[in-house]
Amino acid sequence: MLPDLARLIELQEIESKAAVATRAIADAPGRIAALDALLHDATATLDTAKHALAESKTRRGYVDKDLAAVQQRQSKYKDQLMQVKTNDEFRAMQHQIEAAAAEVEKCEEKILINMMEADEINAAIKKAEAALKAAQSKVTTERAAIELDAKQQQDTLAQCITARARLVSAMDNKGVVETFERIAKVRGTAVARAEGERCTLCQVRLRPAVFVHVLKNDQIVQCDSCQRILYFVPPAVPTSPAPPTPPQ
Ligand SMILES: [Zn+2]
Repeated sequence: MLPDLARLIELQEIESKAAVATRAIADAPGRIAALDALLHDATATLDTAKHALAESKTRRGYVDKDLAAVQQRQSKYKDQLMQVKTNDEFRAMQHQIEAAAAEVEKCEEKILINMMEADEINAAIKKAEAALKAAQSKVTTERAAIELDAKQQQDTLAQCITARARLVSAMDNKGVVETFERIAKVRGTAVARAEGERCTLCQVRLRPAVFVHVLKNDQIVQCDSCQRILYFVPPAVPTSPAPPTPPQ
């Protein structure tokens, strides 16, 4: 094989590897941000539930205060009932006592509703705490994996850059690197394998005169359609079984 063609094939492998590494490095901050968002959401859910519990406790405090005031009034009315002198006064006082009893009932109803509400909020807090714990553990593990991967990809990329420089400087014809780069810019990959008289990347049939050269791998041949530099991998020669040893 023409040494420059072999170098271009290797260069393509390096460029493809570098592209994967570059993409992974570029994706890492977004993946970490997504993890941070997960943690942020879990924290916000817990905060909301805790805030709801605090508000519910405040409301309960008001109801308790109202109830205590009404009960105080109720006992005062009961004392006063003993001291009334006329039937009218008695009825009026009884009416006040009934009104106070209705208020007590209302307060007790509110307390019951508040207790059920607090139960629900406490359950939501427990759930949110568990979800936050799970999110923290997931984020810690995954963030470490992303950071490790990004570091490894940085190393891979650095190795690719070194290998690329070595290959480029070894090229006998520096012009092929320019051709390679021009095609890579447009097509992504600059080198394609030819098989069955076709370019395997654009699938266009090659002219027989072109394919003859590709088969030999002895010069830089470009696909007529996609312009990629073509090479040929000869089919593996099937290994024939060893001949039976003649009986002695
Ligand atoms: Zn092609």
